Amino acid sequence: MFENELKSAVAAVVQACRLCRSVRKSLVSAETVSKDDRSPVTLADFGAQAIVSHALYRSFPEIPLVAEEDSSRLVQPGQRMLKERVIEVVRRVDPGIDEASVIGAIDRGSYGGGAQGRFWCLDPIDGTKGFLRGGQYAVALALIVEGEVALGVLGCPNLPPDLDKPGDSTGCLVVAVRGDGSFMSPLESSAELLPVRVDDVTDPARARFCESVESGHSSHSDSARIAALLGLHEPPVRIDSQCKYAVTARGEASIYLRLPVAGIAVNDPDRYAEKIWDHAAGSIIIEEAGGMVTDVYGTKLDFSSGRTLERNVGVIVTNGLLHDRVLDAVKEVLEI
Ligand code: AMP
Ligand code: MG
Repeated sequence: MFENELKSAVAAVVQACRLCRSVRKSLVSAETVSKDDRSPVTLADFGAQAIVSHALYRSFPEIPLVAEEDSSRLVQPGQRMLKERVIEVVRRVDPGIDEASVIGAIDRGSYGGGAQGRFWCLDPIDGTKGFLRGGQYAVALALIVEGEVALGVLGCPNLPPDLDKPGDSTGCLVVAVRGDGSFMSPLESSAELLPVRVDDVTDPARARFCESVESGHSSHSDSARIAALLGLHEPPVRIDSQCKYAVTARGEASIYLRLPVAGIAVNDPDRYAEKIWDHAAGSIIIEEAGGMVTDVYGTKLDFSSGRTLERNVGVIVTNGLLHDRVLDAVKEVLEI
């Protein structure tokens, strides 16, 4: 199932990762970037979205795309330089593409999503802060069919195949198709994809958990209270982007907590509605690796409600075996 879709999705993600690496490398060599300078992120975001969108359109012109970026900022008269840089970096990996196709490809990402039909769902650079820091980031692509994630691909350019060997710079490709399992290979190689599987930890005291580096994206104080309640010994592994899903899927962590920082009720106007592109690829990779994903209430993530997870609050990921115990602790600490 979805053989052609998977092949095209993988090829597009690998190309986008190549673009991100090349932008990131020229950044390092120029040594001009300060932590607050978001322009390289913008450049790589637009470029990666153009690459993936254009490649998918070539193979599947009838499938729409939900993606994070649009070209409104790029086409302003004051942004000519940035626009030209985007076209230049895109051409480095796709030499034949013209300006109109780059802009058109970016804007194809404006689809509203929903419960009907098929659509692609893309985060061109998930974990932009990690990208800037030289830490973890991911190109995340999924295919959603009738409101359910059917296929997911994560390109993780800085993720070592083994977290305990941080010097390895090959990067990882992690993929899943519904019903077929989750697989991983080095990012840029013809090496075969090998199955990945969540760990089999049942004693929370032996579990490792991961969470965002950014406390503005997930409450670190609540996770510390949940960890204490569960008797977790190890400190959290903090990683940017959906690499957290990849790390949990391959058994290097048993739990990934994403806890709301403001507003816990689904109908609270202050609450943050998670974006579907931040979870679509990661969630199928976990489920197909034998794990479980819900929100803090234990509700399944609902990808059928548009560009955001309207009906969910936060995200709780486990190896499956620990899910009920983790949810109990989450509910106790959040008082829900
Ligand atoms: P992470 O790398 O896991 O910290 O997640 C990065 C993603 O967090 C970005 O792609 C944003 O879409 C998303 N994000 C931004 N603000 C929030 C928030 N208040 N709560 C949760 N996620 C957020
Ligand atoms: Mg993101």
